[in-house]
Amino acid sequence: MNWGLIGASTIASEHMIGAIRANSGHDVVSVQSSSPTRGKEYAAKHGITASTTSLSDILNGSDVDAVYISTTNEKHLPQAMTAIAAGKHVLCEKPLAMTVADAATMVRAAQDAGIVLATNHHLRNAGSHLAIRNLITTGRLGEVLSIRIFHAVMLPEHLRGWRIDNPLAGGGVIPDIVVHDADTVRFYLGEDPADIVAQELSGAMGVDVEDSVMSVWTTPSGVTVQTHESFTHPFAGSGIEVHGTKGSVIARNVMTQQPVGDILLRTASGEESIEYSLHNLYERSVSKFATAVAGDRQPAATGVDGLKSLAVAEAVKKAAVTGQRTTVDYGG
Ligand code: NDP
Repeated sequence: MNWGLIGASTIASEHMIGAIRANSGHDVVSVQSSSPTRGKEYAAKHGITASTTSLSDILNGSDVDAVYISTTNEKHLPQAMTAIAAGKHVLCEKPLAMTVADAATMVRAAQDAGIVLATNHHLRNAGSHLAIRNLITTGRLGEVLSIRIFHAVMLPEHLRGWRIDNPLAGGGVIPDIVVHDADTVRFYLGEDPADIVAQELSGAMGVDVEDSVMSVWTTPSGVTVQTHESFTHPFAGSGIEVHGTKGSVIARNVMTQQPVGDILLRTASGEESIEYSLHNLYERSVSKFATAVAGDRQPAATGVDGLKSLAVAEAVKKAAVTGQRTTVDYGG
């Protein structure tokens, strides 16, 4: 499968170009950047044959089967809609769009055109999270009571830019990290968070956007979820805990792009370290996308999954701004 990159981004450079090429029969053949110089340099650095500033150059190239969109968030909607209209399958970065309504427009367009639209939620591709989900679905934890998520990190210097000062490009820790936590919870539980309370902070790093948030969610089956996302915590480390009537999972350093971290299962029988597959998260995302395009239509995270994680993030933002308990609006 030949891929066109829409966006000369850091995530493509650090993870996705390698992940695409690690899948046998896949290559990156072109990149679109708004800057001709950056596009050219990026293409040369990564051994990509063509660079262009024109989206239609990429989409009209008969050699491109699918596109990977990793521009800033406000561009995802117009670029995905143009790619879908050109008949290209789309793997789009999170958050899928700036609003749930826009994400719904993308999902509908892809469905109508028979195009695969996937969201690049990497965590549900991690061996660690697949193993934790397996403990839940096989009943090792009994009935799930609560989940605690620790996702407060120090945003690396080279990723700051629009994330900390540009709400119009989708900056802020809520669109950046809450969507991942929402997707992980949905992936574990197979249900959608319903109600949310939250408080946010800004100013330590974020200018005009929030840089820290804590929230509590409830699900229809009565699970409570406590989450903490931040750009400003150098030493907190990440983790997730799932507590059930028969057991608890305590996982540390797993809310990350790398296949790392420790998982401990604690039950009445004692404590057990859980082993898991150490495969590359992004390679699996590409592989599942390819299987979806080939016929089973089910990427690791669909467009609807991207819409729903965004709906949770929108509700967290609304709850934090209003101080009111907020019902998540999945847009019907
Ligand atoms: P970047 O800031 O690296 O790239 C976004 C855009 O910024 C690029 O498309 C590029 O525009 C422009 N840009 C890149 N480098 C420069 C530069 N040196 N000077 C000026 N402009 C530049 O963003 P990220 O890669 O961090 O994020 C891109 C998307 O991917 C976001 O939607 C983000 O949420 C998502 N993401 C997802 C992750 C995941 O694990 N799923 C992890 C990280 C990000 P142009 O293309 O026009 O050249």
